[in-house]
Amino acid sequence: MNVTFTEEELAFRREVRTFFETEFPQDILQKQNRAIPLTRDDMVRWHKVAYERGWGAPNWPKEYGGTGWSPVQKYIFADEQARANAPGYLSFGVSMVGPIIYTFGNEEQKQRFLPDILKLDTWWCQGYSEPGAGSDLASLKMRADRHGDHYLVNGTKTWTTLGQYADWIFCLARTNSDVARRQEGISFILIDMNQPGVSVTPIILLDGEHEVNEVHFEDVKVPLENLVGEEGKGWTYGKVLLQHERTGIAGVAVSKFQLSRLRALSERSIRGAAPLTGNSTFMRKIAAAEVELKALEYTELRTLASVASGKAPGPESSILKIAGTELRQQIDALYLEASGYYALPYVREQYSVDFADDERVGEGLDTNSSMVYFNDRKVSIFGGSNEIQKNIIAKHVLGL
Ligand SMILES: Cc1cc2nc3c(=O)[nH]c(=O)nc-3n(C[C@H](O)[C@H](O)[C@H](O)COP(=O)(O)OP(=O)(O)OC[C@H]3O[C@@H](n4cnc5c(N)ncnc54)[C@H](O)[C@@H]3O)c2cc1C
Repeated sequence: MNVTFTEEELAFRREVRTFFETEFPQDILQKQNRAIPLTRDDMVRWHKVAYERGWGAPNWPKEYGGTGWSPVQKYIFADEQARANAPGYLSFGVSMVGPIIYTFGNEEQKQRFLPDILKLDTWWCQGYSEPGAGSDLASLKMRADRHGDHYLVNGTKTWTTLGQYADWIFCLARTNSDVARRQEGISFILIDMNQPGVSVTPIILLDGEHEVNEVHFEDVKVPLENLVGEEGKGWTYGKVLLQHERTGIAGVAVSKFQLSRLRALSERSIRGAAPLTGNSTFMRKIAAAEVELKALEYTELRTLASVASGKAPGPESSILKIAGTELRQQIDALYLEASGYYALPYVREQYSVDFADDERVGEGLDTNSSMVYFNDRKVSIFGGSNEIQKNIIAKHVLGL
């Protein structure tokens, strides 16, 4: 594997870096630095800046309005995005349903949905999990029964991230119960959230934020034309999507940024206290995380090299997911340790009041570290829990 970047790739990195330095909205950066959750408007505004630059969908082919970037260019972009502390794109449209539509959808669906995803004029959310169907997704019960020219949809989806903002939801729903295997009879259906029978109720997470929801469907009429691909083939489409999702969840670029910030922080003297560099036990932990991260980065680059040669990400996406998310939680814990008692208070308003004028805000040494720590408990669960990824590795890599 060759990990030396070409002259063109280095020039591309400079171009991307300049873009983030000059175009990324500063007020959103301030929020990012303080780990203040972004609003719908922040996300849309930032996405449109990238869209205007022609970078609305880094992972899409050019024919659908994407960048047509090589895997290495995508890697460089993600690296620079994290370095600039810019948020990732809303994944549900650009990374999830978009590719499913342009790969398996019909011409009419491509024309109808892709342009709005590209501009983030439509906010999508993901309706896979249900109460009672998470790891064992094939046991999902949401029904979409044919009635003339439409489906009648009934059931509940859960853990629906940012569903409170969504215009549309893509769902795995059961269109046929009379099947030999539970994975059959599941279809991939697009549902307009703004219609009678759809209701959204919040779930508040450990960090106190409203990030996920339950979405209820009661006799919701969905035109048959909103079925993607073949009826009963939803499981196959859904699996393709999950492999891509897991590769992204590894979050190597974000961990790199966080770790470099932590190292910079450890070298500073804060309010006269000795810098953490004098604490060899703590510094050993940072060094161990850096070594882990380097190994993970090379594994990701190897996966990229294989994707560049035309292969789809296989079970290695599970390895990346486990290693990447464990490392991210390890780094979060180091931030907590570095923050000491500043990490303790958990009062929402304090994030912007108590430490607002303190030079440490934005450097990680403040109460944000506890918020990030609690929020990131999710990363080893969503996209398929890490235990499930171990089962996949056991079966498909080790052949057990
Ligand atoms: C913050 C957050 C956001 C999410 N966003 C979305 C979203 O937008 N859309 C969506 O569809 N879903 C979303 N999810 C759901 C996520 O995919 C599921 O939580 C996940 O698949 C686990 O399912 P579960 O919560 O039902 O846990 P369960 O499946 O009940 O698992 C409970 C525990 O048992 C373990 N376990 C289960 N089965 C096995 C097994 N066979 N072998 C070993 N261990 C096992 C699991 O690892 C876990 O530790 C989100 C979840 C979270 C936490």
